[in-house]
Amino acid sequence: MVRTTVSYRPEFETADGGLLIGGIPVDRLAQRVGSTPFFAYDRGRLSARVAQLRAALPPDLELSYAVKANPMPAVVQHLSGIVDALDVASGAELRLALDTPMPSGSISFAGPGKSMTELTQAVASGVIIELESETEARRAIKIGERIGLRPRVAIRVNPDFTVKGSGMRMGGGAQQFGVDAEAVPALLRELEAADVDLVGFHVFAGSQNLFTEILLEAQERTVDLLLRLADATSAPVEYLNMGGGLGIPYYAQDRPLDLDAVGRNVHRLMRERIRPVLPDAHVVLELGRYIVGECGVYVTRVVDRKVSRGKTFLVVDGGMHHQMAASGNFGQVIRRNYPMAVGDRLDATEEDAETVQVVGCLCTPLDLLGDGVTLPRADVDDLLVLFQAGAYGLTASPTAFLSHPAPVEVLV
Ligand SMILES: *Cc1c(COP(=O)(O)O)cnc(C)c1O
Repeated sequence: MVRTTVSYRPEFETADGGLLIGGIPVDRLAQRVGSTPFFAYDRGRLSARVAQLRAALPPDLELSYAVKANPMPAVVQHLSGIVDALDVASGAELRLALDTPMPSGSISFAGPGKSMTELTQAVASGVIIELESETEARRAIKIGERIGLRPRVAIRVNPDFTVKGSGMRMGGGAQQFGVDAEAVPALLRELEAADVDLVGFHVFAGSQNLFTEILLEAQERTVDLLLRLADATSAPVEYLNMGGGLGIPYYAQDRPLDLDAVGRNVHRLMRERIRPVLPDAHVVLELGRYIVGECGVYVTRVVDRKVSRGKTFLVVDGGMHHQMAASGNFGQVIRRNYPMAVGDRLDATEEDAETVQVVGCLCTPLDLLGDGVTLPRADVDDLLVLFQAGAYGLTASPTAFLSHPAPVEVLV
């Protein structure tokens, strides 16, 4: 028996054992792209994912795409036509979002440490500024006065609860994100006296959660908090952003989230809690990874195959400088293997399999993409495909490390 370390693999179409991306065999795609390594994002999968979310979620819930998960312009353009809103986290992402047909009123700008320049961009373009602190609130007010426009702001609230099970916790306890829930009343009084439009509230408690029960409870508590804050606000609340945090499976033991259960919960929260008090508010679910993560692959070519003291190493032309998350260095506590395959051998049987180390081309032992991973025998020039590479891939990686060229990204 071959030890199988990669049992989770997203469903991609194949033809003659070869992986199809956007209907194109991966080796043909590599020829089309002209170089390896590269990232390929599948347009059909993006659309299907959004359709799946729409089918599960209430029709009056607005779906926002968190651009930082994958800011490739073609991806953002495509998604801008099928989601209701875009969330950005920098001045450059804001320009990218403004390049799409998405109306500026449906763009929100979150993230700590926004500069005066970024805040000015945000006020000038009329997007919703998710205020991360009192200082930021005062800066936004000042900019509004200076340029003669009323800033549209929402308060990002650091909740008075924590969500367990998130890959990255971003709310609860002491945080750099948002205004502590107990400090919101004082900030509300300040904003009410100022020349700003306070549109509502935003709570984002954490990212990459695969535990359905915990997510349902977090949604319940988030809605509790949002409604408490709305109740304490004198101005009419037109915007409630309930965050997201829906995770995707990466590792052998991960199971996909129960999206239907999440959808039923949101239906109930809308019907029983939110709509009776705020019938017309924009209620937003904000997702990055869940929309794009499973729609992308990172394709890299084997450049060397060597045996060292009994272990076989496949050395590929990519690595952690492009896809750091797959090396286990993007916030993971324990290093595990991301799903991967030999691009033209997805139908290989266990007899062809061997256990190998897949390493990138950087001069560091951290550049480990597959540790004791079972794959069909691969040789020099074979394409190795890393799945779940659509989110927090290229732009979340140390691309300048070792000064290799940047990989191409394509949407097919
Ligand atoms: C990063 C981020 C997201 C997206 O998180 P995912 O886990 O990719 O869905 C959403 N909202 C805010 C405020 C973020 O910072």
